[in-house]
Amino acid sequence: MLPQFQAVGRALFTQGLVSCHSGNLSIKLGEHLLITRRGSTLSSIGEADLVKTGIARNDRATPLASTELEVHRSIYKKTSAMAVVHAHPPYAVTLSFTEKEIIPCDMEGRALLPKVPILGKQVTVKAGDLAEEISKALKQHQVVLVQGHGTFAVGQLLEEAHYYTSILEQNCRLLYLLKSLRTGSNASISSLPTEG
Ligand SMILES: [Zn+2]
Repeated sequence: MLPQFQAVGRALFTQGLVSCHSGNLSIKLGEHLLITRRGSTLSSIGEADLVKTGIARNDRATPLASTELEVHRSIYKKTSAMAVVHAHPPYAVTLSFTEKEIIPCDMEGRALLPKVPILGKQVTVKAGDLAEEISKALKQHQVVLVQGHGTFAVGQLLEEAHYYTSILEQNCRLLYLLKSLRTGSNASISSLPTEG
């Protein structure tokens, strides 16, 4: 299991989807989850950076787990996800302040992520917050965005959840560029034409 954590951790870092100590990954193992350690660096995950703890129960390893443990636990309790990727993609986080939701504009994005909700609009979010809201939204979506914070994506494998994170960021980058072409106009990017 370590190699898939390492491959996805490195890819997230090299693509700029996480910074030095941000982001966390987990997979479900029956009644347990295997999650990155609190404060670990995703670009260089080692054996000691993976923590196995209960989904419903605490044990001795629980305090070592990522600060987003409660969100990962809630996702496994409420959805059929087998893997969760949390990242801080800069364009997605930027647009989380100005948009109500993200409607991807390229062909791949439109096909796989018709709409990405933005949660936490009314609150100041810190790590571990919004577990209920995030897991509820992930019943219907592959990825959600938390305002001013980052993304939570689900899949059957870490690679799949990474893929959705990366499609969302790519689309947010395109939407940001489209929006910059419209300088001087008040149009929301949600109203930009999606064809062409
Ligand atoms: Zn975060």
